[in-house]
Amino acid sequence: MTTDQTPPTVRMIIGGAQVDGADGRTFDVVEPHAGTTIARVAEGTPADVDRAVAAAQAAFDSGWATITAAERARLMFRLAQVVRDHHEELSQLESRNIGKPISGARWEIGRVADVIEFYAGATTKLHGETIPVTRPGFDFTLREPIGVVGLIVPWNFPLYLASWKLGPALAAGNTVVLKPASYSPLTAVRFGELALEAGLPAGVVNVVTGPGGTVGAAIAAHHGIGKVGFTGETATGQEIMRLAAGNIKKISLELGGKSPNIVFADADLERFAAESPYSVFDNCGQDCCARSRILVERSVHDKVVALFAEATKKVKVGDPSDPATEVGPLVSFRQRDRVAAYVEAGRAEGAELVVGGVPPTDPALSRGAYLLPAVFDRATTEMKIVREEIFGPVVAVIPFDSEDEAVRLANATPYGLSGSVWTRDIGRAIRVSKGIQTGVISVNCNNSVHIEAPFGGYKMSGLGRDLGMDALREYTEVKNVFVDLS
Ligand code: NAD
Repeated sequence: MTTDQTPPTVRMIIGGAQVDGADGRTFDVVEPHAGTTIARVAEGTPADVDRAVAAAQAAFDSGWATITAAERARLMFRLAQVVRDHHEELSQLESRNIGKPISGARWEIGRVADVIEFYAGATTKLHGETIPVTRPGFDFTLREPIGVVGLIVPWNFPLYLASWKLGPALAAGNTVVLKPASYSPLTAVRFGELALEAGLPAGVVNVVTGPGGTVGAAIAAHHGIGKVGFTGETATGQEIMRLAAGNIKKISLELGGKSPNIVFADADLERFAAESPYSVFDNCGQDCCARSRILVERSVHDKVVALFAEATKKVKVGDPSDPATEVGPLVSFRQRDRVAAYVEAGRAEGAELVVGGVPPTDPALSRGAYLLPAVFDRATTEMKIVREEIFGPVVAVIPFDSEDEAVRLANATPYGLSGSVWTRDIGRAIRVSKGIQTGVISVNCNNSVHIEAPFGGYKMSGLGRDLGMDALREYTEVKNVFVDLS
């Protein structure tokens, strides 16, 4: 990207070519650190989705699904290497586009290559079963690709979350139509170009940019698409379910969260306080797994709040291009104002703002969408800041008196994505992990994501699983074949 007066134009990737939208319109991409327009991006339309689906179907029919798994693996390993070769370029693009600290962007792009590599390796390990049915004969299953799949992704970890779906979808032999969020289309388009550079046939990876309400909805409703893999807000996921009903599309949904961080009095409180600010303020709180509720045993409440507030003050908020920066701006001024309104609501409802919640005073950050990480104490389950996903750097502390109460509070939300339990009592760690209704639990840490293990939500946090071998199966149909031997 350049800082010239005229920002570069970025086109979609359909059928291996860079193309404008059908009606020639573009939208601006604004970087949130300084508020400048850094790209004009083709604004797709439902007609462009039709074109992309046709290109993906042609690529599917002409061999992506039927080449050997080993050949698909070889191309995907090459793709991972091409991503590594462009690691710094992609990291800079991601950081600038959404104000993500460069250190975090570099980590994520490295993980994108890791995810593609994991699924490249998994390509040759996907197999069916033989089943001892009672009739005389031979019964076996095949894992077949679904066909053309639509992938709709959010802006908080743009290319990283796209890779969670691209990896298994491609490995299983599907071709894809990828739609990045309007805030963050730049690395997705570049990925589409790099897939071609790596030798993936034209039409295997198509990237259509544009608004969710038109392009995303057209993908979700399209009868030429057999499955949609989606990550985003729960309300959008509900809309996608409705749109997908027309052709009984398969769907995987990774949705919102309001994850608990549960601290028992016997835990290593210093370690909890040192590590946990990043579990909610990392990526400026724009993380589906953000531990936005701290549930703390009452006997250590004051100590934990003091330690956590001290650690929060040390989090380095600043210019995303500075390698020392830990937390950058929110993705947009709109999002910053939304989060600031939650801070106001917390105050109005009687929670105590212990630290943060205001823009930084550093003049170098005055043009950006910044807000200092906020810690609310004395919160209750009725408050808006405890009930709703804020998707910003705000955490609410609630005390509890017993293990049962901790589990009850943890589950007092329609969401069920992730959570942490801090205790030195192994029995309690296991009891509480089993009692919490979330798809992912971390004990004495906050790590929710492992490429090799399933990730996803209970309740209104989702449907299906990303990552691990579970995700690979989500991008297949199972065919059962019975051969009569009587
Ligand atoms: P969003 O739902 O607004 O948008 C996500 C994607 O859906 C974007 O590409 C958007 O353009 C598209 N979209 C919007 N309306 C659509 C429609 N009617 N039909 C089809 N597509 C449509 O979400 P966001 O603001 O980009 O991301 C933040 C949300 O994502 C948060 O709720 C967060 O918790 C969630 N999230 C979940 C996970 C997870 O794995 N569970 C991971 C990251 C983010």
